[in-house]
Amino acid sequence: MTETVGRFAPSPTGPLHAGSLLAAIASYCSARAAGGRWLVRMEDLDSPREMPGAASLILHQLEACGFEWDGDIRYQSRRQDAYEAALEQLHGQGDIFWCRCSRTDLARLPSPAYPGTCRHFTAYRTDAAIRLRVPHGVIQFRDTVFGMQHEDVSQSIGDFILKRRDGPYAYQLAVVVDDADQGITEVVRGADLLDNTARQIVLQQRLGLATPGYTHLPLLVHADGSKLSKQTFAPALPLEDTAPLLLRALQQLDQEPPPDLAGEPPAAVLAWAIEHWRPERIAPGPIPQLPG
Ligand SMILES: [Zn+2]
Repeated sequence: MTETVGRFAPSPTGPLHAGSLLAAIASYCSARAAGGRWLVRMEDLDSPREMPGAASLILHQLEACGFEWDGDIRYQSRRQDAYEAALEQLHGQGDIFWCRCSRTDLARLPSPAYPGTCRHFTAYRTDAAIRLRVPHGVIQFRDTVFGMQHEDVSQSIGDFILKRRDGPYAYQLAVVVDDADQGITEVVRGADLLDNTARQIVLQQRLGLATPGYTHLPLLVHADGSKLSKQTFAPALPLEDTAPLLLRALQQLDQEPPPDLAGEPPAAVLAWAIEHWRPERIAPGPIPQLPG
């Protein structure tokens, strides 16, 4: 039997808010309910968007909510060698090519999928992005909340970027390499990443890596239907009196916590949530986040 390993992987572009709390609590309960480990990974590859001090603030927010992670925090900014090794493997297999198409070049084309213009550039070129040669074929996976998903990435997206022209490794590559390296068996995260999953599975297959289970969570939305995010100024989670917030997150995930838990410490709320964790109850529709 494989041990369950879950993870919470915030980007330190700002403090945690009610939307990120859903991903934290659901990934935590899912891993702990299975007797497994829960890891925290900082996805800090996009340095221009990062907020100084956000990574340590996030860890304080998690502690204030009663979360206990296993092992050391992983920082993607320190993992360049592993991402480079994955690119070398793909290069050896003939799976990548170097592309200098500009965004404007691609925007002029009729199809949203990359047309394969630079596929013949299979050797290193300066000032170029690296793309994965995406094979034809439908990727299929079952999401715990959203059910069966099908996507032919070669049709929907085409050859996608693994390393940007201006230097950084792409999110898709870093996530796939780190999930495998950390032995993650289940990915629990917001539904805004549901349409990234097929790309990540394509990459796992090219790299010969296992595919974890996937649970995507309904998104919290403002009254106008827009997603709650750092960009839309969702308020930061406070560092004290967090039990009511945990309770509200559990209600939003359809876990039906008893209201008297609100007077308990955060660790007691989480202990209840782990014991009563029922992911099959989570409804996929967006959740309006009311103020207060
Ligand atoms: Zn190109």
